[in-house]
Amino acid sequence: MEERKNFIQEIVENDLAQNEKLSIVTRFPPEPNGYLHIGHAKAICVDFGIAQKYGGVCNLRMDDTNPAKEDTFYVDAIKRDVEWLGFQPAALCFAADYFETMFEQAIVLIKKGLAFVCDMNAEEIKETRGTLMEPGQESPYRNRSVEENLDLFRRMRAGEFPDGAKVLRAKINMASPNINLRDPILYRILRMEHYRTGNDWCIYPMYDYAHPIEDMMENVTHSICTLEFEDHRPLYDWVTANVDLPAKPRQIEFARLNMTRTIMSKRYLKKLVDENSVSGWDDPRMPTIAGLRRRGFTPEAIRDFCDRIGVAKSNSVVEAALLEHCVREDLAQKTERRMAVMDPIKLVIDNYPAGQSEVLQTENGSDEAHGTRGITFSRELFIQREDFMIDPPKKFFRLFVGGEVRLKSAYIVRCTGYETDENGVVTTVHCDYDPETKSGGAGAERKVKGTLHWVDAQNASPAEFRLYDYLLDEREGEGLDFSERVNPDSLIVKTGYIERALDTAAVGDSFQFIRVGYFRKDEDSAEIPVFNRIVGLRDSWAKQKQ
Ligand code: ATP
Ligand code: MG
Repeated sequence: MEERKNFIQEIVENDLAQNEKLSIVTRFPPEPNGYLHIGHAKAICVDFGIAQKYGGVCNLRMDDTNPAKEDTFYVDAIKRDVEWLGFQPAALCFAADYFETMFEQAIVLIKKGLAFVCDMNAEEIKETRGTLMEPGQESPYRNRSVEENLDLFRRMRAGEFPDGAKVLRAKINMASPNINLRDPILYRILRMEHYRTGNDWCIYPMYDYAHPIEDMMENVTHSICTLEFEDHRPLYDWVTANVDLPAKPRQIEFARLNMTRTIMSKRYLKKLVDENSVSGWDDPRMPTIAGLRRRGFTPEAIRDFCDRIGVAKSNSVVEAALLEHCVREDLAQKTERRMAVMDPIKLVIDNYPAGQSEVLQTENGSDEAHGTRGITFSRELFIQREDFMIDPPKKFFRLFVGGEVRLKSAYIVRCTGYETDENGVVTTVHCDYDPETKSGGAGAERKVKGTLHWVDAQNASPAEFRLYDYLLDEREGEGLDFSERVNPDSLIVKTGYIERALDTAAVGDSFQFIRVGYFRKDEDSAEIPVFNRIVGLRDSWAKQKQ
């Protein structure tokens, strides 16, 4: 089957066809002002994917030209997350390391008469920028001489003027239909310590000027970014055409990932962290890569998701259920099955001899390759509270007085009664078992409708289960702010029991808990282990698409 190419691959192949010697260089350029999220994962897959496919390299570059919000703490997190996703950057670069070159190239632009120092303040510049319908007005400082501009710009750097007193602007065209080309600001004066360059600089370059130079410094051939930069591309091209650096990168834009019920903005995610609405950037409910990792999502599943959504030129919203579908598919292959009972009640088999115990064999997975393990069975077990009902509806194939079920890998039991506490809450269910129906034995073929999982009370260990839901409620597209949509039930904590075999599980290990979902052992585990539910077993996405 011929593989379908996306539009970025087509552009790159065309460029390669015209220049066989072209060696492809891309970059992933996050600003270190927060943790990466699932949207960044898409960009990472595109940037690194293109380099890999065409024998090139991809750099990880911290786009750290804005001193206000950046921090080494985020640099470390970003590096860790990119590598965890399975990508090895050719180099770790920092835009701040190019500040001197950016300054030199600004001098080049001034000398070419393409940049000038403007004394208007931010408000005045905004007011004279014009609109989509009307051209802007030229700055009264636009025709300063090259000498005067050089002098003033050097003095800006030397710290002779207060913050905001002057800016360096490109001299392009105040009547351009593209507002980005109306003498955009290249440099501003800002006295603020930078996490990397300290107080070396009191002028900082603007993104639109800095970014193309960063790309040129790294010989980037294809500078892939998201759609909101499309209108900035003429300015990107203006910078690459006019500064004195040899590389000639091209910018390509694709649609960013939007996903239902998911906050896709570092700013808002930071707000959740700062306001303690979540336990941190790696809270398992967060759509950050760190949060997804802690929840138990795998790099393979995330990459598969990015593959399936593809790259396009038009914005759309992907269903969160697709990501879950991908992780479910991956975990179905990778995890072993175990038994865990959340919200337990006791099940007593009155006709099973007290003090007796036997070891039964149960499968670790859906195919034989996973093998089996021994589990103990005795008179008292735990089952899930929801698996018993006093007044069952029709077609309730679990336990009720008089009803029969098979206990997974064990026997068929018939319910004979139940006990409640003083509030009428069920505490214990009584059953009789049929010794002839042992799984795998001669009488095993007798069929009953329901099979329940269980753990042996004598050999059970207590555990905490954390069940997650989306951070946002369902009100998509109603113009609501994220903070109005926060789901109060995004975390539900249950306690219960796990089978003994899980006592040796390590933090980070994942399992399929039969009938309840996929779980990963969390970092918060102490005396009592904590398991995060990664996803439930039911696949809403696969159902919808049938
Ligand atoms: P945010 O608004 O969440 O802070 P950003 O675009 O400001 O995102 P950057 O750190 O500047 O974050 O992003 C690094 C790269 O990741 C950029 O190339 C950006 O286009 C890309 N990116 C960010 N968000 C998404 C998304 N939702 N889908 C695809 N790519 C994205
Ligand atoms: Mg940004």
